[in-house]
Amino acid sequence: MTERTLAIVKPDGVAKNLVGEVVRRFEAAGLRVVALKMVRLDRREAEGFYHVHKERPFFPSLVDFMISGPIVPMVLEGEDAIARTRRLMGATDPAKADPGTIRRDHAASIEKNIVHGSDSPATAGFEIGYFFNALEIPPR
Ligand code: GDP
Repeated sequence: MTERTLAIVKPDGVAKNLVGEVVRRFEAAGLRVVALKMVRLDRREAEGFYHVHKERPFFPSLVDFMISGPIVPMVLEGEDAIARTRRLMGATDPAKADPGTIRRDHAASIEKNIVHGSDSPATAGFEIGYFFNALEIPPR
């Protein structure tokens, strides 16, 4: 099934000049970038994006990290895009990520892990709408 998902190059990825590298990996795998921008979140916006994690011990640190610099959210489209994006990213903890994944190759830690990808169709719907309005996304 053709799906859309939200991916983000996180502040560490932007700081390390990996925007192009992350996009290249998605495109090389056959995913299509249908929307993309650079934004800097404020604290309230980052807390809202990660609201499902608000009770987790790492939440304050995660929010500080996500507002530490600009990020590059994008909408990716393709067959099975949600699962494929997550496979290309690798496990949350780069030490546990498969060889050849973005996180294994580039992430510094379980928190500073370069890239985000939606984990379900419902999450993708919420997350795409968080960053892109209807005028910024091509109709299907
Ligand atoms: P993801 O779907 O692989 O991004 O992982 P999660 O949804 O579980 O967590 C969201 C983000 O929170 C991760 O990508 C990390 O940036 C951060 N994170 C997750 N687990 C930890 C942790 O144990 N410690 C810290 N400091 N950050 C974490």
